[in-house]
Amino acid sequence: MNFDTEVVIIGSGLGGLCCAAMLGKYGYKTIVCESHSLAGGAAHGFEYQGFKFDSGPSLYSGLSYSPSTNPLRQVLDVIEEDLEWKNYNSWGCWLPEGYFDVAVGADDFYKLLLDLRGETAAKQWRNLQKVMKPLGEASTAIPPAAFRYDLGAIFTLGGYAVSMLPYVFSAGKLSSSFGKVMDEVVTDSFIRNWLDLLCFMLSGLPASGTSAAEMAFMFAEWYRPEVILDYPVGGSEAIVQALVRGITKFGGDLWLNSHVDGILIENNRAVGIRLRNGKEIRASKAVISNASIWDTLKIIPDGVLPRDYVKKNLATPMNESFMHLHLGIDGKDIPSDLQCHHMVVNSWEKGVTAPANVVAVSIPSLLDSSLAPVGKHTIHVYTPATEPYDLWAGLKRNSQAYNDLKEERSQVMWEALERFIPDIKSRCEVTLVGTPLTHERFLRRYKGTYGAAWSADESLFPGSTTPINGLYCCGDSTFPGIGVPAVAASGMIVANSLASVDKHLDLLKVI
Ligand SMILES: Cc1cc2nc3c(=O)[nH]c(=O)nc-3n(C[C@H](O)[C@H](O)[C@H](O)COP(=O)(O)OP(=O)(O)OC[C@H]3O[C@@H](n4cnc5c(N)ncnc54)[C@H](O)[C@@H]3O)c2cc1C
Repeated sequence: MNFDTEVVIIGSGLGGLCCAAMLGKYGYKTIVCESHSLAGGAAHGFEYQGFKFDSGPSLYSGLSYSPSTNPLRQVLDVIEEDLEWKNYNSWGCWLPEGYFDVAVGADDFYKLLLDLRGETAAKQWRNLQKVMKPLGEASTAIPPAAFRYDLGAIFTLGGYAVSMLPYVFSAGKLSSSFGKVMDEVVTDSFIRNWLDLLCFMLSGLPASGTSAAEMAFMFAEWYRPEVILDYPVGGSEAIVQALVRGITKFGGDLWLNSHVDGILIENNRAVGIRLRNGKEIRASKAVISNASIWDTLKIIPDGVLPRDYVKKNLATPMNESFMHLHLGIDGKDIPSDLQCHHMVVNSWEKGVTAPANVVAVSIPSLLDSSLAPVGKHTIHVYTPATEPYDLWAGLKRNSQAYNDLKEERSQVMWEALERFIPDIKSRCEVTLVGTPLTHERFLRRYKGTYGAAWSADESLFPGSTTPINGLYCCGDSTFPGIGVPAVAASGMIVANSLASVDKHLDLLKVI
């Protein structure tokens, strides 16, 4: 049996869900086809033996209040959905220099620097803030929600021209890498290492490859007075559910277990998709792929795209993958004031992108006790985008070689946890070890990659249009890039591009 709709979206990552929710609000009938049995892509949540886990993101800001510059919050506002948030303002950093509770907010970091590195370093931090202030203002002066991929952008962006005028001289800096901005102001090695780490958490690249605009956006958000961090009650899954509620209330549908194995193209126009089970969905307006660029190219029939386009996109630089631990533990005597998030850096010399060097830990049940049975905690540990896929390629899951490698490559995560929960291994009631092959399988991501690794000095992330009429992409392979705010923006921009300029302008008023 075949189905008809106006728009089909391939994939229910946050990019695809934001796009679908916005399209619903614009009045389009949309079907989202998700390959997995759970929605959310990299941000899906799952439950195992009473413990609720985040598969990916857990560090959020700018979501618990409105109006906000965070594009995900803007989508939630547009679709009139919300959820409950827990707030906190610091995380634990285990650095080669020692342990620090690092608070968001510029003054706290200034004080830390004064104690640790002295006046010269603290002054450099202040200078960097001065340089970043106009860049931050410029990066938020035009909301991503005003963008669209057609000439209508003249009208939707035009309204912001005046507010951009004071920042015309910032444009050059914003379009370069943050590394260049940092080089002008910061020589202190600790601050440089710290900024490399922040950049890496944001983009998967060190300062030399991260866009100054992205960092300016982050500085504007994290280093303003009274800033707070947000965690969604119910875990990241609660964000996914809020977006799905938005989609369905406007008449859209989410189809789970619906792997798309082909995009239907007629006369150089995308007219629908074919599922693995043979069903087809015809789409009268557009097909939008939220899958990564590598996964999208796999489902476009051979010979339809120009050869150069395929070659160039297949050669997209790629971030590495992840090792994960998802643990359900006995929480006896775990201090209630233990930080929810921890970042462990073993060595600055190796660099933040080195394999098995940086470890991220999230214990969200410290903020939201509903995520674990009474007296227990749920923990997610991962090596962020530093685990080489090639070490795992070709291994059979559950083979002896695979299990041995799992044991070996997870050591660094256990050692990181033992720094603040020394008896962690004896507390575990659930132990799930994920590898790049797990990441590839459950997130349906080519080689389990974190995403495209476009270095800011070389190239912007590509836009969402393709050489095929009616075929768009959204998500972390497209502008503005990786991370929850960025993919929400990309979904929003594609939805805007299908809407009339009048409807788009009406919606900007809501934001
Ligand atoms: C471990 C980890 C931690 C992170 N932490 C943070 C954080 O703290 N803060 C932050 O801002 N960002 C974080 N990120 C990054 C952020 O989560 C991602 O950039 C973002 O969620 C990606 O969303 P997306 O919509 O682009 O793609 P995805 O989430 O990858 O979604 C794509 C979807 O498409 C589906 N799909 C693929 N192919 C097909 C097909 N053929 N048919 C049907 N469906 C298909 C997939 O199953 C998937 O659901 C983290 C990422 C990871 C992995």
